Amino acid sequence: MSIEVVVGINWGDEGKGRMIDYLAQDADAVVRYQGGNNAGHTVINEHGEFKLHLIPSGIFSKNAVNIVGPGTVINLEALCTELAELKTAGIDTSSLRVSDRATICFPFHQMEDIWEEERLGKAAYGSTRQGIAPAYGDRYLKKTIQVGELLDTPHLRNRLENIVDWKNTVALGIYGKKDAIKLDDVLAWCEKWGNELRPYICDTTQVLEKLAADGKRILFEAQLGALRDVIHGIYPMTTSSSTLASYAPVGGGLFTHQPTRIMGVMKAFSTCVGAGPFVSEDTGEWGDTLRKMAGEFGATTGRPRRIGHFDAVASRYGALIQGATEIAITKLDSLSGLDSLKICTHYEVDGEKIDTFPLMNKLEKAKPVYMEMKGWSEDVSGCRTWDSLPKAAQDYVLTIEELIGCPIRIVSVGPERDSLITRNTSSKKAAA
Ligand code: GDP
Ligand code: MG
Repeated sequence: MSIEVVVGINWGDEGKGRMIDYLAQDADAVVRYQGGNNAGHTVINEHGEFKLHLIPSGIFSKNAVNIVGPGTVINLEALCTELAELKTAGIDTSSLRVSDRATICFPFHQMEDIWEEERLGKAAYGSTRQGIAPAYGDRYLKKTIQVGELLDTPHLRNRLENIVDWKNTVALGIYGKKDAIKLDDVLAWCEKWGNELRPYICDTTQVLEKLAADGKRILFEAQLGALRDVIHGIYPMTTSSSTLASYAPVGGGLFTHQPTRIMGVMKAFSTCVGAGPFVSEDTGEWGDTLRKMAGEFGATTGRPRRIGHFDAVASRYGALIQGATEIAITKLDSLSGLDSLKICTHYEVDGEKIDTFPLMNKLEKAKPVYMEMKGWSEDVSGCRTWDSLPKAAQDYVLTIEELIGCPIRIVSVGPERDSLITRNTSSKKAAA
């Protein structure tokens, strides 16, 4: 039996989806345990290329049950649309299960997200405007609905009456929107999409506990990265849930068995989507060149991603707060052809050199301190063994491993399922 968690070490888009797709080939369950449909997890395999938003990246596995866990927020319509797209592509989605305890993300949450970003103007969070923050906010205010409540119409109407009344008060008082939300519309939305999802809704903890008791292999899949964690990340430029491995048992709903393997995924260089401090960002020619070489443009928006040198300070912190037992480093192939590479080893804040990851007020002032390394010109995308990598590429990976203090066990050299090198190094022990 094994319980494994795949998490991001940095700002997100590290390649978690492709690692889950790889590991899920012989898993019995894959569980998304936090976040909403603001995820974009890319999977490229024998079925084609997919961007998964809420459905676990194990959906292509023949044997795994795929669970959207209790810690997620679910836009019912978006989930149904994603399901329909996968079905159209010929994917069997019958293994999907949706937790009855997950939180519903309503269209009025999306509206509120947009209103708030507009109200903030220049100080906006750079939200994906999917309603994720208002949905989580309401969960903690105890003013939204759990997926299982959809199945009890009189109860649902009663609860929604109160919630819609309160939401309209907020809409008018803060955003000047009068009667913006109509109870009948909300109920109709729940009925339409709730009916479609009905066959998938269940107590997913029962499913997971049984699998764990039977000694099965369970994978947990995180969305976003460590630095966007709502407690330990770059608050308030974070997401609204916990992206950490420690949250997987709660958000996934498995309590009797603890994770034994925590795979932290990180890129061989730094990228950041959205706002917030990014100390090793390169806005010059090097960054432009790498952006083009690595294809770092937003998948849906086409927006250029922010690019930076590998940030060992942020990554060491990311690996620590994830409790990573091992690292998978992705996109090493994208660096081929660069003469030299820089690694940010320290930050300088107010003239002081630090190697720990500070709070936002200091982070905004931090300047990168770099070491320089030799690049390599060889195409490494065909390499499948550590020994076949050029010496400079090996040195780069080993230097990063040393700096972040966690063994790098997988080196990814392409986006396809099997474009990987597995290294024979032992992993750290998971904290008991
Ligand atoms: P996630 O959100 O962590 O699942 O990551 P994304 O899918 O948003 O972003 C990772 C991007 O890098 C995707 O476009 C992947 O196809 C791509 N990718 C992942 N690993 C590799 C790799 O080793 N090499 C290359 N060239 N691309 C990769
Ligand atoms: Mg992504």
